[in-house]
Amino acid sequence: MRLVVRRLGRVKLMLIITAISVVMAVILNLLISYIFNYQTPLTQSMLRAAIIPLIIAPVVSWYLLGLLLDLDKLEEEMNKLATYDDLTGLYNRRALFKSCHLLHRLTVRTKETYCVVIIDLDFFKKINDKYGHAAGDTVLKSFGAILKKVTRDCDIAGRLGGEEFCIYLSNTQQDQVGPIVERLNDEIQNNLPKCDGTQIHYTISLGVAENKPGLEMSFEDILNKADIALYAAKNSGRNRMVIYSDELGDK
Ligand code: GH3
Ligand code: MG
Ligand code: MG
Repeated sequence: MRLVVRRLGRVKLMLIITAISVVMAVILNLLISYIFNYQTPLTQSMLRAAIIPLIIAPVVSWYLLGLLLDLDKLEEEMNKLATYDDLTGLYNRRALFKSCHLLHRLTVRTKETYCVVIIDLDFFKKINDKYGHAAGDTVLKSFGAILKKVTRDCDIAGRLGGEEFCIYLSNTQQDQVGPIVERLNDEIQNNLPKCDGTQIHYTISLGVAENKPGLEMSFEDILNKADIALYAAKNSGRNRMVIYSDELGDK
């Protein structure tokens, strides 16, 4: 019903409902007159039957259609809030995991390789402390826009929370992630956000994990490996990418 309201518009639908009401009232009136054998002149009786819905139907339908449109807008807003991160416009954690699980299942069937990359902004607390929380937000927004630009339509990018992000690179092997990260770093350097005219320099650390056909791992397993790799990137000096290897997992 809401789809019909959206497609036809409030005015058109109000006119249609009024016309249907008038026609139905006239038909009903004729039927009742016939059944009970009323002797009122036909035109007079039809005119009387048409006048009531002609007054009531537009008012009632206009009000109800308005409510329906408001409900539609609210539902759209709710879906947006439940899916996207307010600050960056990327997928929020919930929507990110939902899409990643779906793609993971598809990938297992199609026997493709994919990579998960967890990205964390380095020393972000210092940026907040030095430039203020609002400037920190600007950095997150700017980085979110860069992630959107660098990832393809078939990839998924989202904010895990705070200054931590995640990308799911479809049909990508781990040795193909390097050039993507290079592009990401180039974009960061070319689009440094500003606070009171001063450029805010920042770097990122990345943990990468690959899922290959035959590994029989869940999406959580891959994410966990990417997290271990990120931890290694942080511990080995930050501003770098580490690809998960079994040696890291054994530590
Ligand atoms: P590391 O290099 O080890 O990741 O250090 P870090 O300072 O980036 O990490 P830490 O976890 O110590 O601090 C993260 C900071 O991110 C703390 C928190 O206040 C800030 N933060 C989290 N969410 C937001 C946000 O939405 N906006 C802003 N401006 N800051 C945020
Ligand atoms: Mg950080
Ligand atoms: Mg962090």
